[in-house]
Amino acid sequence: MIRLALVIGALATLSGCATVEASRPLEDQRAEAPRASTASDHPPFWIGNLTPPERFERAKRSRPELIAFLRRMPKGADLHNHISGATFADFMLESALAADKHYDLSRDVFVDDPGDNSVSTQTLIDTPAYLNQYRDIVSMRGWHRDSANGHDHFFRTFSHFGTAGRTSGEMLAEVLVRNAAQNIQYLELMAWPGNFPVLQRFLDVSPVRVDVNDLDAAFEPFRALVNDPEVLAGFRTAVDTWEATARAHMVASNFDPADAPPVRYVGSIMRTFDLTRFFVRAVVMMSMVKADDRYVAVNILAPEDAARARMEFDDQMRVLDFLWRELDQPNMTLHGGELTMRESPLEPMLDRIRKTIDVGHASRIGHGISIGWERDVVSLLDQMRADGVLVEINLTSNDGILGIVGDDHPFLMYRSAGVPMCFCTDDEGVNRSNLTLEYLRAVRTYDLGYDEVKNLTRNCLEYSYLDGESLFMERDYTRRRSTPPDSSKARVQLALEDAFDAFEASLARGFREG
Ligand SMILES: [Zn+2]
Repeated sequence: MIRLALVIGALATLSGCATVEASRPLEDQRAEAPRASTASDHPPFWIGNLTPPERFERAKRSRPELIAFLRRMPKGADLHNHISGATFADFMLESALAADKHYDLSRDVFVDDPGDNSVSTQTLIDTPAYLNQYRDIVSMRGWHRDSANGHDHFFRTFSHFGTAGRTSGEMLAEVLVRNAAQNIQYLELMAWPGNFPVLQRFLDVSPVRVDVNDLDAAFEPFRALVNDPEVLAGFRTAVDTWEATARAHMVASNFDPADAPPVRYVGSIMRTFDLTRFFVRAVVMMSMVKADDRYVAVNILAPEDAARARMEFDDQMRVLDFLWRELDQPNMTLHGGELTMRESPLEPMLDRIRKTIDVGHASRIGHGISIGWERDVVSLLDQMRADGVLVEINLTSNDGILGIVGDDHPFLMYRSAGVPMCFCTDDEGVNRSNLTLEYLRAVRTYDLGYDEVKNLTRNCLEYSYLDGESLFMERDYTRRRSTPPDSSKARVQLALEDAFDAFEASLARGFREG
């Protein structure tokens, strides 16, 4: 009805104009006729004599323009990326095809041998209905807002796509090549080489049951192992082999491994494990950090609202605290506060983030969504700012899993409190996202300017677990050291600054690539 009224109004205006125009000389009409809009009225961001922030404001006009700007803009690092969730369902098809797998249409898993309800991977690829079913079940493509619980759909995907036979080497190559295409200087991946021989030695001495009140006794069988040079060398060999496989996959896909961003790894522990398995896994992960410089930290993952994760949270923190002291105080970046009232009672949210930091020794946290519920939140935010506890922000993931968007997200709260943040992907494959789109979402949601975005990318390196002194003094990006320190961190930070110089020079030259 409203639309009809508008149309009638517009017609009346048009016919009124026509009457006036008809009574005037033709030359006047020609002189005043509105000029057709041309491209030069709406120049793209790469045209004209503009500063980078001005070009950025222009690029905000539309999603594809912002994508074009942000894909090539240096983004520092992705610090929160689960390698299995980063794998795209699309590429799993190649792996399943190469491994001669079959796809079971009733269970939505790949199987080695054909069965009553299975089709060959080639048939899956060639049959749109099957392919759509597959892609829906193994990614958030199949989740539609308000039609199902995004949390449940998301976590279900993991039980399906592990069956495609995609190797850890293929997954690592995939993630590195994708990030190289987006001008990302450094990655910290939650990733693992797979099974390897020395792991069995940990399982062989594992206690039947860990008593949280006697963690010394639980750790006793591992004391010799975690200092055994042969065991520590076994960890490094596993990583060497894994990385070599990844490099071979990159070469096979005509990508030069030298162009991949430097990568470090984070070992993960499932918070849904019973306490004994949790303990043993934590020993293994912290031993990997001890053994190999490429492993820089430990994390805990799986749904934070899971019943066991809630019921045993305090015990899990005690285990982490104990082992952290025993195993050379590794860096801890822990998922913390990935909770909302939809998925959790109030009680865990009152101190989840504080305990994750104070007891679990987290120097970074993932998500931090429930911060508003924390007791004495002002002192907690002060502490996070003063101690530099960075929050790994995962906007797309929070939208899909928790239904958190816009100012439901604590981005504005952390920003106003001066708590450092870095945009990350979490599970880019499952979410069908990438780091460019995480920046795009942040820029459009919070109307961020270029200079703030640039400093956010610097945070990702400043608060990374790269070794050594920073390029900047006291975390102030306006105070660059005149002589860059000889450290891993400063080298990557310099690479980011150089990448920004090159990016901005390219903008000024017309932004052509090649
Ligand atoms: Zn995560």
